[in-house]
Amino acid sequence: MKIQIDHKDFELMIEHEQVKKRLRLIGIQLNVAYENRIPVFVGVLNGCFMFMADLMKEVHIASEVCFVKMASYRGDQREEEVKTLIGLPNSLKGREVIIVEDIIDTGNTLKQVIELVEREEPVSIAVCTLLLKPEALEYDFEELAYVGFEIENQFVVGYGLDYKGIGRNLKDIYRAV
Ligand code: 5GP
Ligand code: MG
Repeated sequence: MKIQIDHKDFELMIEHEQVKKRLRLIGIQLNVAYENRIPVFVGVLNGCFMFMADLMKEVHIASEVCFVKMASYRGDQREEEVKTLIGLPNSLKGREVIIVEDIIDTGNTLKQVIELVEREEPVSIAVCTLLLKPEALEYDFEELAYVGFEIENQFVVGYGLDYKGIGRNLKDIYRAV
């Protein structure tokens, strides 16, 4: 199936049912790994909202949920800068943290989020991302423990991800053609 957003064509890549199946498996892994540890899930807005909502329905252990929001922009330097729009609401000192991302591309955003969380001195940090573009990744994250799908280096929309602000509400995931 093909769709168009602002004159750009996208084709169906991952159906919602496939995502849900994958989330059930990740949920089982998390329930085992974090049993009796009351982890804090830190979602990275905006993209994570749909993934996080579905993921948390598969997490049956006691846990907390909060969100951060980062904004990336091209500054004067060539390297992309990332700043914090919404910070961490409460202390993560001594806690087990699971960062929840919609997609990891270069890894710049994740690097900043990890640094933000590290300052709070948690006992552990793991990362759970729905999508990962291994070819685009510029860092080697030892925290990257849970990956929904590895995809090629292509632009995707839907299920929380947007193109020019549009498409976050799409149930399935589409790729640019
Ligand atoms: P990174 O900092 O890892 O390069 O990029 C992470 C952010 O870039 C994501 O949180 C997301 O906002 C955006 N991004 C990267 N790849 C895609 C993509 O394929 N589709 C959309 N919609 N956003 C993307
Ligand atoms: Mg994101």
